[in-house]
Amino acid sequence: MTFLRKPRHGISMRIVGRVALLLVCLYAGIAATYSVRFLNGIERDAQTAREEQIPLILSQNRNALKIERAASLIRSVYLAHDRKIERQIQLQLQTLCQSFTLDENQTLIDGARDIAASVKVIVSTREASRKLRDPDGAEMTAEIETQIKNTDTASAEAYQRAILTADRLSETLATDAVALADSMASTIGSAAREVKLGWTLILTLPVLFLVVTLWVVSRHVMAPIGAAVARLEAISSGNPEGAAPRTPIFHELATIADAVEAYGALSSDLSRTNTLLKILSDRDGLTGLANRRSLQGVLDATFQAAKSGGPDLGVMMIDLDHFKAINDTYGHNAGDACLVAVAAALQRFEEKDGVHVGRYGGEEFVAVVSGRDREALAALAERVRGEIMALEVLSENGRRISLTTSIGVSHLAERPLDGVHRLVSEADAALYQAKREGRNRVGFAEPAGPYDIPKRNRQA
Ligand code: GH3
Ligand code: MG
Ligand code: MG
Repeated sequence: MTFLRKPRHGISMRIVGRVALLLVCLYAGIAATYSVRFLNGIERDAQTAREEQIPLILSQNRNALKIERAASLIRSVYLAHDRKIERQIQLQLQTLCQSFTLDENQTLIDGARDIAASVKVIVSTREASRKLRDPDGAEMTAEIETQIKNTDTASAEAYQRAILTADRLSETLATDAVALADSMASTIGSAAREVKLGWTLILTLPVLFLVVTLWVVSRHVMAPIGAAVARLEAISSGNPEGAAPRTPIFHELATIADAVEAYGALSSDLSRTNTLLKILSDRDGLTGLANRRSLQGVLDATFQAAKSGGPDLGVMMIDLDHFKAINDTYGHNAGDACLVAVAAALQRFEEKDGVHVGRYGGEEFVAVVSGRDREALAALAERVRGEIMALEVLSENGRRISLTTSIGVSHLAERPLDGVHRLVSEADAALYQAKREGRNRVGFAEPAGPYDIPKRNRQA
């Protein structure tokens, strides 16, 4: 088949399928790597939070509580006014402040030291104040009163300093805890956002891929297959002509489409050849008239029509006189020219008088005549004879060849309806009778046997 030798065009479906499969595998690999990387990241963040950030926040919380406790002790020591209680509270505060040195937070350590120092000042100024207020019986002088005032002021200032330090530490711890919690929340939040974006992409891309695949399959696979099937159906129903569908982009389908087109062209050629063969098989090669086989079909059909009450039927057997002598005298080519000229004359009768003519064989012709009575048939036969006699056919050396014919006529109205062959053989018999009577004449077959003809025909 010629279409197989055509250069391949379009994309290979097989290659596209393999590339798509490769892309799917690549995509699955990327999605898996991405997922593992993010899950690992989340696990790492959770571990950091569990092992570092949460203990840090808890320790900040503990320290904040300790600072609160320190502030409360500072207030107690300031309000105590009892040496013993003051010493006890100072001891407790020292222990508390000592515990901050375990932390690595320098601000906290410095603050604790400041608080301890301030409390020491409170306790010592209180002691001094007490001694000044109880001067062992001596008189309270204005100078002593001033000293008492100064120690009280120093005590109050130390108290203020200690409380301010405690507040500052408390605030710092709270700020650090908030910052830590914020950083934890933002780490977790950004991980969650990345996971959300990642999974949105992972889930969206396959949907997009599916939509594109469905579009490609429907437009570039299903549609060309449908078009090829429709074209095949059109060709099978004898309609191979028509615009060829668009060339598919996949070369496998393009090859199928080419095969369908080649089949269509072949089918077209075959149907044209069949028509030509039918014409050739019905026609005589030399004269172009209907041949004996197709003439037999016309005879059968016209006879059947007449039998069922259709128009009357007559048959003329037309035979050229002494044709062998013409061949012998002027040559075979001149004989052929005579046959062609006679055929052309008969064809004119076919066109004008609605008769069917054909070459029955050799130099014999037949005319099938419908709807004529005996007189009209006889007149027509005479005209045919006269027309042929008037033909001017020249030989190779320019001499006019004189042509005459003998014609045998039979008429259905005068014959039993037992078959068209009898009508033909009686026309043949009438022809030979005409030959015997001297040629160049029309012989009419005599009625034979009982009448068996439709009433209408009998009247005609
Ligand atoms: P008759 O008047 O008795 O019909 O005599 P005839 O010579 O016409 O009849 P016959 O049957 O003796 O000869 C017919 C001749 O027709 C013989 C044959 O060579 C010739 N013939 C048949 N077919 C063709 C043809 O196609 N071309 C030519 N040139 N001659 C043909
Ligand atoms: Mg003859
Ligand atoms: Mg003959």
